[in-house]
Amino acid sequence: MIELTGAMIIDLHTHTNIHSPCSILSPYELISRAEEIGLDGIAITEHDHVWSRESIEQIKEKTGTRLLILTGQEVSSVYGHLLVFGHNGYLARYSLDEIMEEVHINGGVVIPSHPFRYGNIDRDIRELEEEFSHFDAIEALNGNQDEYQNRFGLRVMESLGLTGIGGSDAHSVRMVGRYATEFFSVIQNEYDLIREIKAGRCRPVFNKG
Ligand SMILES: [Zn+2]
Ligand SMILES: [Zn+2]
Repeated sequence: MIELTGAMIIDLHTHTNIHSPCSILSPYELISRAEEIGLDGIAITEHDHVWSRESIEQIKEKTGTRLLILTGQEVSSVYGHLLVFGHNGYLARYSLDEIMEEVHINGGVVIPSHPFRYGNIDRDIRELEEEFSHFDAIEALNGNQDEYQNRFGLRVMESLGLTGIGGSDAHSVRMVGRYATEFFSVIQNEYDLIREIKAGRCRPVFNKG
């Protein structure tokens, strides 16, 4: 079902009904759907909340899944939504500069979520260069952007030579894995994920199925 196959396909953007009130997706449904469509892993990225490793281990034990389950958060910043991996603290109250500094000091990455969902789309791509150069990657493909916005995301990524990721932004079962990220090395934890994103060894992919 996945268009491109590599070492690992991971949906890097999902919300569950445990910590995202806007989601109707239970972690059990998320895991079972991800397995069903053949994903290698998922990242649970709730709004302004990071799952504890202990809670993830409990879910893994209950389901017996062999799926890689990573954790991150989607920070509700003044700039807009930001996917953050490698920082577990609450960041929404800070300015963009402070978030960037805080996450980078901790060795994490900051990636604007669905950057073209609410605009930016009719601008000259070169005007976006300075804005996006500060981030570690952009979410070029997102399940809550329409096709035109996603196509623009891919063009921006390619034109500016940015690292791009993809995520379904799933809030329901049918959205899981619609977009994902392909990695060319084996990812076993958040450290591997961050290293590969920083090195630009990944690309956004979509699910044809
Ligand atoms: Zn969002
Ligand atoms: Zn989201």
